[in-house]
Amino acid sequence: MADLRRNIAIDLGTASVLVFMRGKGVVINEPSVVAMDSYTGKVISVGREAKKMLGKTPGNIIATRPMKDGVIADFNTTEKMLKYFIEKAVGKSFFKPNVVICVPSQITQVQRRAVIQASRFAGANSTYLIEEPLAAAIGAGVDISDAGGNMIIDIGGGTTDVAVIALGGIIINKSIPVAGDECDKAISNYIKKKYNMIIGERTAEDIKINVAKASSPNDNDLFEVKGRNLINGLPMHVFVTSNDIAEALNKPLTQIVETVHSVLEQTPPELAADLFERGAIMTGGSSLIKGLDKRIEDRIGIKVQIAESPILAVVRGTGKSLNWIEKLDSSEMGEESMRKKAIEERLKRDS
Ligand code: ADP
Ligand code: MG
Repeated sequence: MADLRRNIAIDLGTASVLVFMRGKGVVINEPSVVAMDSYTGKVISVGREAKKMLGKTPGNIIATRPMKDGVIADFNTTEKMLKYFIEKAVGKSFFKPNVVICVPSQITQVQRRAVIQASRFAGANSTYLIEEPLAAAIGAGVDISDAGGNMIIDIGGGTTDVAVIALGGIIINKSIPVAGDECDKAISNYIKKKYNMIIGERTAEDIKINVAKASSPNDNDLFEVKGRNLINGLPMHVFVTSNDIAEALNKPLTQIVETVHSVLEQTPPELAADLFERGAIMTGGSSLIKGLDKRIEDRIGIKVQIAESPILAVVRGTGKSLNWIEKLDSSEMGEESMRKKAIEERLKRDS
């Protein structure tokens, strides 16, 4: 019998939520922000509309990001957000969809269960989880069942995840809570200290996306930034240099680069040799920070390539996994133990 369910894949990120539907591709790509009435708890808007309200909501409306560092920070709000996006993607249907959601590979069992439960409450039939580095790799076009190693560097809003994968499993990975958001914060802190000016979250993000470069630029361009005077609270503007921004970003970017380096250091020699041949792949929105690929490349001595659509790679890979959804076991990756064995065997053979 034909399955009338519409199955969907969700990348439930700290910065954005993306939804993929087979045959349609990515149907939703919106910020993971929810605006609610603080008295009644009613949702006022979700996604793009809600993001516009961040930082400028009147007293009774609060705009929040329910995901933090890749995991659910606020369960009820996450559930409401998921419900909104699932309904938006699937439309009104008698059949509840099966849902695959990617999760960071280092999250706890409790955090995994929270995702499954939120998804169920939000209207999913069955929920399956896939580890994000695997999803990112699949989405970037890597054959993850390959015995050779591949390195995936996913730099999102809340976290940077670096993983080496082989034979469909994760060999090593490391995650740090430093990514795009920390860069935004670093920019606003720098401007506050140096120019006594407060800027909003979105201004800092604009600067990062449009002006920032990961290494000290030779040209010292000036650009105007508007904000509020730290001392008297009045609107003001200053001219910031590209070197200012490079200096501001140095700390978070160094932390990111060193994380990649430490994962490479722990990679078994055989797989490291594969990486030298194949290079590493970057995904996630913050992989687009200008010059970051080059900066990582210089540090680790391995070619680093940004995936074709770095922001869509994870959800596309999660979407492809819909094809083998029945092979997955909800709450756990079904083939985990099998895969681990295969990897151990390969490592034994190599050593
Ligand atoms: P998550 O998976 O955590 O939801 P994403 O992969 O969607 O995160 O990446 C979101 C981050 O990417 C944000 O910090 C955003 O500012 C940043 N970002 C998006 N586009 C760009 C760009 N062109 N240049 C630099 N940073 C970007
Ligand atoms: Mg992500």
